[in-house]
Amino acid sequence: MEKILELKNLKTWYSTDSGIAKAVDGVSFSLGRNRTLGIVGESGCGKSVTALSVMRLVPMPPGYFAGGEILWKGSDLLKISEEKMRRLRGNEIAMIFQEPMSSLNPVLTCGYQIMEQILVHRDISHAEAKARSVELLHLVGIPNPAERFSSYPHELSGGMRQRVMISMALSCNPELLIADEPTTALDVTVQAQILDLIGKLQADTGMSVMLITHDFGVVAELCEEVLVMYASKVVEKGAVEQLFKNPLHPYTRGLLNSIPRLGSPKERLHVIEGNVPSAVNLPDGCRFAGRCPLADARCRKEQPPLVEYETGHEAACWKVG
Ligand code: SF4
Repeated sequence: MEKILELKNLKTWYSTDSGIAKAVDGVSFSLGRNRTLGIVGESGCGKSVTALSVMRLVPMPPGYFAGGEILWKGSDLLKISEEKMRRLRGNEIAMIFQEPMSSLNPVLTCGYQIMEQILVHRDISHAEAKARSVELLHLVGIPNPAERFSSYPHELSGGMRQRVMISMALSCNPELLIADEPTTALDVTVQAQILDLIGKLQADTGMSVMLITHDFGVVAELCEEVLVMYASKVVEKGAVEQLFKNPLHPYTRGLLNSIPRLGSPKERLHVIEGNVPSAVNLPDGCRFAGRCPLADARCRKEQPPLVEYETGHEAACWKVG
């Protein structure tokens, strides 16, 4: 399988008044062409900073790359110029953000914003860019796309705005689409439509997708591979079937047990007690030890490495196997 993206021991840290916040701390994974990878974990585990690092959109300062590599088709994105990165961003790698209202410009029409994106990256006429923008609005399922081209963001519903964001992200046929909680701000019906749409577009265009979510249900629906992050590190990764059938890490099991299941309405949902440790004050040993029912003295002292337990299925826990 051709690796389109590979992160090797990536460390994205921030200088803060309270100390160094290790938001991403030694993260490694790869993503193949035409594959969909889900990154799951609670808020504050480093998922979004991992995505922003790939886009090189981490505000610097206070952020900085303390080590590692981000290989995009073999070249390290951390070593290329900002000018090259600008050409790549939105063109080869595109991102859909969580909240479309804060990502769209309220004083420009939706059509203009899509068109602008195309004109930055493609040497085509104004008329061609407009035709392509209308085509994209149609592709993402916006009714009357020619009319909607002239709508301002506030004139559209949340679901429609998210579709506009997706059409902007797809405007230059990216090879990688990063979607950061793309459905969090939407109601359940629209969520399902947007996820279907991303899945369909992925199948049609052959792009790779990195989907950031805290929701294992979304992963089951859309992804082939999954990465579980906890306290700035990867604690488990593997194929979706492997993780669902045989979750190895206690944190993954906790997340899976907290999904409501149809047909068992009386079953109490499991809650993982406690909070994710602060990125400024990470424990020396296993970072999950403060919340793990299996933790012992070794867990609190030594950090477990990621170990492969079956082909492609890795976990970082002293008590697996
Ligand atoms: S290493 Fe220990 S504390 Fe960490 S997840 Fe495994 S059992 Fe729990």
